[in-house]
Amino acid sequence: MADPDCLFCRIVRGEIPASLVHEDERIIAFRDIAPQAPTHILLIPRAHLGDVLDLGEADGPLLARLMTTAARLAVDAGLDRSGFRLVTNTGADAGQSVQHLHWHLLGGRPMQWPPG
Ligand code: AMP
Repeated sequence: MADPDCLFCRIVRGEIPASLVHEDERIIAFRDIAPQAPTHILLIPRAHLGDVLDLGEADGPLLARLMTTAARLAVDAGLDRSGFRLVTNTGADAGQSVQHLHWHLLGGRPMQWPPG
């Protein structure tokens, strides 16, 4: 379930400090160390999954928790009025740099489409 060398598993275990904004039995959320927008929060499962390719049907409740928590955090930050983006990068072309499934919650500034 946990990868001893995974950066985000180490944050889950409390071995590396993070600015937590949410924690429950399934997931945690914390502020990105290199924010790309005024609000930049990462939401991750406590269990180690590499990316969305590791998800199965049984992960439905986990995904619901991640998405509903992201929506609540967006509302808490006032982003429901201005808009926000939820992103999960998968693999090299998408620029995934941490191999532990996570969603970026980004908001607080206008964003471009298509993404770079
Ligand atoms: P990705 O490139 O999509 O895999 O996203 C990984 C994100 O993790 C990047 O936005 C990094 O800035 C962020 N990150 C890396 N190390 C830490 C850390 N120790 N605490 C918080 N965020 C981190």
